[in-house]
Amino acid sequence: MGFDLVVRGATVVTPGHREAADIGIADGRIAQLGGTMTGTEELAADGLLAIPGGVDAHTHLVHQGLAERVGFPVWVDDFWSGSRAAIAGGITTIGNMTYPVPDGEGTEETPVAAITREMAGAAGEAAVDWFLHPILLHPAALPEGEVGALAGAGHASIKMFLTDPDLAADEPALLAAATAAQAAGSVTLLHCEDGAMLAQAGEQLIAAGRGAVANFPDARPVAAEVAAVDQAIGIARRAGARVYIVHLSSAAALDRCRRARAAGLPVYVETRPLYLHLTRERFDEPDAAKYVGAPPLREQSDREALWAGLAGGDVDTVCSDHAPWTLQAKLDPTLNVLTARQGVADLETLMPMLYSEGVVTGRITLDQFVALTAANAARIFGLYPRKGAIAAGSDADIALWDPGHRRTIDGAHMQSRSGYSVYDGWQVQGWPRFVIRRGQVAFADGQITTRPGDGEWLPRNRTAGILPSPSPDADFSPPPPRPPAPNWLRMSKRCRTLPRIPCMCLGRRRGCRPARSR
Ligand SMILES: [Zn+2]
Repeated sequence: MGFDLVVRGATVVTPGHREAADIGIADGRIAQLGGTMTGTEELAADGLLAIPGGVDAHTHLVHQGLAERVGFPVWVDDFWSGSRAAIAGGITTIGNMTYPVPDGEGTEETPVAAITREMAGAAGEAAVDWFLHPILLHPAALPEGEVGALAGAGHASIKMFLTDPDLAADEPALLAAATAAQAAGSVTLLHCEDGAMLAQAGEQLIAAGRGAVANFPDARPVAAEVAAVDQAIGIARRAGARVYIVHLSSAAALDRCRRARAAGLPVYVETRPLYLHLTRERFDEPDAAKYVGAPPLREQSDREALWAGLAGGDVDTVCSDHAPWTLQAKLDPTLNVLTARQGVADLETLMPMLYSEGVVTGRITLDQFVALTAANAARIFGLYPRKGAIAAGSDADIALWDPGHRRTIDGAHMQSRSGYSVYDGWQVQGWPRFVIRRGQVAFADGQITTRPGDGEWLPRNRTAGILPSPSPDADFSPPPPRPPAPNWLRMSKRCRTLPRIPCMCLGRRRGCRPARSR
């Protein structure tokens, strides 16, 4: 039979199974695995592994025009440069976080309006396939039915920040949003650091003259992460809602999730590369600020616990949280522990670093690598088996991985506009040689061979989920009640002191003085 493209000679990796098989691709999908076939085009892939293109469910790309509109510094990759970074590292699908921003009159967009804007902005730029996570900054203020309307329009997830003390203290609003999400078939994503504890720790450091960014890890203690993870688990239990904890960073927080999952609660766990490869000792370096992400880098014991979590199935996904700044912006000397620019570029390095440090070293298996970088995220976000699998009928999203390729990480010559990598100088083994997205060769021997707009938006109507449904009498003791937020948190400075990433309120919230820098 004749196909559009035939990939010859690769070893096809699917969970639990590995075989040398040719891959026949027609109309952007995998049509046949193994057997006799001919193609209009053929790609010789001897010696390469055929793995599913990565599904990175957590990115922060900013479509063109948004930076000018909000008027303060934002992340530097749009959907085109971000797509290039993704593809060059083996990723073919991304999930981007969609922030409401102030509209022309200074009124915060509704999540539906933000999604509408970002759909238009991304469509002409993206070269990876993409989906969007609506961010709910103020769920209590939403129009009735907003979460259901978002899911109905194909955006079956919501994200909320427990870093906002007002929101974290508003349990009814959190529960209502998570309940609405569950009813609509959506997953609830939560940034788990307790805002009141962060603000207190940060203010204390500044008052003690230790406000420099080098002290960032002390401004965001593990205890704040654990408190918020406990709250997230409580939301999963009380709302019966599937909860997805983004960028989990510590052994203690992972342990809370492990216990919740053992009790049958639908708590998904994501971590990101920073916590697998780096520890807080980096903050002793002169350019400490370049490592700032929230939560911060942790201890070696946390790092080891996360690797064990990957191998043991306690962590579902490794996502980049790609939030790129230039080095100059990161090192801005006017920043402090509360205003430090959070996030790093990691789209291009996510899969090679995990392969090199995980599969090559034997910390995780190749099957686990595929599950952590593609299959699990596709399942959780309702895209499986269209994405995350190499199987007949799936989209032909394939990273043809050269397991022996050696390279030294050099952010200055990578695709992100950040211009540096936190792993600069790191020697890695394993990199994609070709990347195919829906049947189109998008990357070949170091060259990007796709164009802006070649990516497709992926509607997600009801998400599937890989964990069991919550049992009403799951044996799980509730977390201790939250202490009330101190009064001063309700006073001015509020937004400035919060880890909003960045504060998108533009000074609109009463008393907010958002961090602006030249
Ligand atoms: Zn993020």
